This record gives sequence, structure tokens and C-alpha cells, in this order.
Amino acid sequence: MPELPEVETVRRGLVPVLEGQRLVKVETRRPGLRLPFPKDFAKRLTGRRVESLKRRAKYLLAELDNGETLVIHLGMSGRMAVEGSGLGAHDTSVSGKHDHVVFETEAGRIVFTDHRRFGLMTLLKTAALAEDKLFRDLGVEPLSEKFDAAFLARALKGKKTPIKSALLDQRIIAGIGNIYACEALFRARISPKRLAGRLKPQESAALAEAVKTVLKEAIKAGGSSLRDYRQANGDPGGFQLRFKVYDRAGEPCPVCGGAVKRIVQAGRSSFFCPSCQK
Ligand SMILES: [Zn+2]
Repeated sequence: MPELPEVETVRRGLVPVLEGQRLVKVETRRPGLRLPFPKDFAKRLTGRRVESLKRRAKYLLAELDNGETLVIHLGMSGRMAVEGSGLGAHDTSVSGKHDHVVFETEAGRIVFTDHRRFGLMTLLKTAALAEDKLFRDLGVEPLSEKFDAAFLARALKGKKTPIKSALLDQRIIAGIGNIYACEALFRARISPKRLAGRLKPQESAALAEAVKTVLKEAIKAGGSSLRDYRQANGDPGGFQLRFKVYDRAGEPCPVCGGAVKRIVQAGRSSFFCPSCQK
């Protein structure tokens, strides 16, 4: 599933085609994705100008000139591919059966493809976005200034869950999934099994720093492509080649050479180095 770095990469790829541009044509090829599209969805979008394209957690937010925001979630396998943008785009002009929505601006054409259809598109009032059920319980943006050592120490205080689960809790930090939780814990040398409330101040400081670093590195690499994820120009991301522990069970730890271990926590795989992470 795309996490923060993948959604941020897609956002950056879409900005030249969407931001400041008018939607000249919007076409939906089915009644909805995970949920039905809102009433008159294409009609309400057509002719609107996209004032800005932002991101909150794993959601793309296209703020329109009529006080509404187009909210897009890529779900498990959704792709937003730009064609004809002169950005080195791959040819996506042959329409596939999983191409569900097409957006056209004067700067280019964006095709939303999603073969598993867990994605979501909806329209919400921009002024009421923060209170909407999609957003009201979301925690802090890990790349914002609000997220730092002091914040993390406060958020983890008294928590009796493993630190790995706390990192995945979207009510604390928004946008981190399994990959980046594992990679951040490795970089901070903290075992995923440690109880969140028991981290020492210097450990939560190291972890806050590691979360920021790993997310920034991943964005720079264009995100991680394990299966379906592609950047807006159709290219896969490159961060999967730099995983230090994620999906590397049995392979050597890049620091100590010992074997990376896989365990299951709350139904999810955790990858870590038992010697480096205490
Ligand atoms: Zn190691």
C-alpha cells in the first residue's frame, strides 16, 4: 500500500499538470471505487480550477476554486499517471479496463488506474475538511515541525503497546506504514518489540529523527515499488533497493552482518536486526 513517501512523490509529479490548471474534462468510467463517487462527480469538477495540490497523510487534496476539495486516496493499488505532459511520461494513452477516472487540463491528462479498487475519490467542503471523518482523527504529519523528539516522547508516554504498533497508529503519526516503521526503527537501533512507553528520552529523540530521515530519503528515491505503486510519470520508485531490513529476512544486516529477522506483530510482519536493535 502506498505510504506517505509514495503519495508525496505522486503529488509532486501531478503538480505541473494540476496546480493552477482548469479541469477541462473529467470522465468516470464506473460508478465508484471503494465507495460510489459523489453525485454529479464529473460535472461538479469540470470547469473548476485547481488552486493547490496538497497532501494530508496518504490523501491527495486538490483544492478547487469553488470552496470544495477533491480528495483522492490511492488505496492498495491505485495509480495516477500523467500522459502527454512532456515530463517523460510513459504512454498510457491505450485505455485499460482498470482505468477508472480521467482528468484533463490544458497541461496534460491524468489517468487513475486501480485494479483492486480500494481507492477513494470524493468531494468535501474545503473549510470543513479537518473535521471530516476521514481527517479528524489523523495525527501529526511526521515531516512537519510539530513532529519532533518532544512530541514523540509525549505521545508515547504510558503506552503499553510495542513501539512498532505505536508508529503505525495513524492517530499519533499520519502516513507511516509497515515499510517505514521497520526502516525507522532500524535506523534508531530500537527493537520493534520494545514497549512504546518505555523508550528513554534519547531513544525517542533518535526515533523521531530516524522517521524524518527515512521518509525524506524515500521521497528523494521516488518512493518504494513492491507491486503496483508507480510515480506519476509511470516509473517505479527506487527506495525498495535501499531497504536495510524490510522484506530482507535471513539476509545480512548492513551494519553488523548478522541475519535480519522477521516476526509478526499485530498481524503484520516486522523486520529487524536482533543484534543492532535493542
Ligand atoms: Zn545488525
